[in-house]
Amino acid sequence: HIAVVGSINMDLVFQTPRMPLPGETLMGHRFHLVHGGKGANQAVAAARMGAAVSMIACVGDDANGHSCLQALQADAIDTARVRVVPDCATGVAGILLDDAGQNSIVLATGANASLVESDIDAARSTITQAKLLLCQLETPLSTVLHAIQSAKQVSVAAQETGQEPVKVVLNPAPAQKLDAQVLRQVDYLVVNETEASLLSDVSVTDLPSAQAAATVLQQLGASVVIVTLGAMGIWVADADQAYSLPAFQVKVVDTTAAGDTFVGSFAVAIAEGMDLRAACMFAQSAAALAVTQLGAQTSIPHRGAVERQLQS
Ligand code: ADP
Repeated sequence: HIAVVGSINMDLVFQTPRMPLPGETLMGHRFHLVHGGKGANQAVAAARMGAAVSMIACVGDDANGHSCLQALQADAIDTARVRVVPDCATGVAGILLDDAGQNSIVLATGANASLVESDIDAARSTITQAKLLLCQLETPLSTVLHAIQSAKQVSVAAQETGQEPVKVVLNPAPAQKLDAQVLRQVDYLVVNETEASLLSDVSVTDLPSAQAAATVLQQLGASVVIVTLGAMGIWVADADQAYSLPAFQVKVVDTTAAGDTFVGSFAVAIAEGMDLRAACMFAQSAAALAVTQLGAQTSIPHRGAVERQLQS
C-alpha cells in the first residue's frame, strides 16, 4: 500500500470573471464546495489509480472534517490514522477561479497544523509496511521529516533482511526551502515551477531553466527530480540521464489539482515498479485529464480513462 502523510482541506471555490482588486467587491459566477487539500487530493489520485491507500492526517471536529473523511472513505482510502482534533476547525482553502482558468488561493490550515510526530509514531507500522511514502508540505515540516526518517530507518534495516525499502516521494508544496539532509532522504522529488525556483534559486519558466534547477537540486542531494511545467510537460532527471516529456494536449477547464493528480498517480506507478519514463507519462495522462474538469477531488480521473488516453 501507499502511505500518505498530508493535509485535508475543504475547498471553497468561487468562479469569477477576473481576480478582484484590493478593496473591491466583485460579483462571481458560481460557488462550489469541494473536498481538497494536497494530501487528500494526492491520496484520492493514488486510490483512483488502483492503489490501496492509507492517509495519516488531522481534521477538525466539524462538518467540513466529517464530510472530508466520508469523501476519502468513498474512495476506499483507509482513514484509521486520521485524527479528529477537538475544538479545532478543519483546514479550509478559499479558491478564486477566473474565466482564464487561473486560480488564486488563501489557506487557513486549521487542524492540519495539529499533525505532530506522535501521530507518525502511532502510524509507524502503516509507514514501515508501505511500498511508498508520499508527503507534501501543507502539514508541519517537522512531522513530514519524522515520517520520512521513519520510512528510511526501515530501509536501512530492510537491506539486511532482503525486504524492499520504503520509497519516499516528496512534493514540497507549498514551496519551502529544504536542507540537503532532507533532500538526500527523498527518492523522488516532484516540483512545479514555483517550488523548483524556490528550492534551487534558479528562476524556472521553461525547459532549459527547469534543467538548470534540477541540476542544482541534484547537487544539493536529491536523487530523482521531476519538474512539472503545466502545458509544457515535465523535465526529468535521474542519476543516469535527464530528458523532457511533452504534456498531453487537452482543453483547459480548471488546473486545480493537476499537480496533485500528477504526484498521486506517479506514486502509484513507481510503487508498481513502472520505469521512470513510463511512470511520468502515466502521471501526465492522469494530470491532463484532471485539467479538463472543474474542482480538486471531483476532477481526478480513474485509471481506465488514464490508460485509454495513453493508448490513443
Ligand atoms: P501545479 O498544478 O502544481 O502547478 P503543473 O501546472 O506543472 O502543476 O501541472 C502538473 C502536470 O499536469 C503537468 O506536468 C502536466 O503533465 C499536467 N498539466 C497541467 N496543465 C496542463 C495543460 N494545460 N495541458 C496538459 N497537461 C497539463
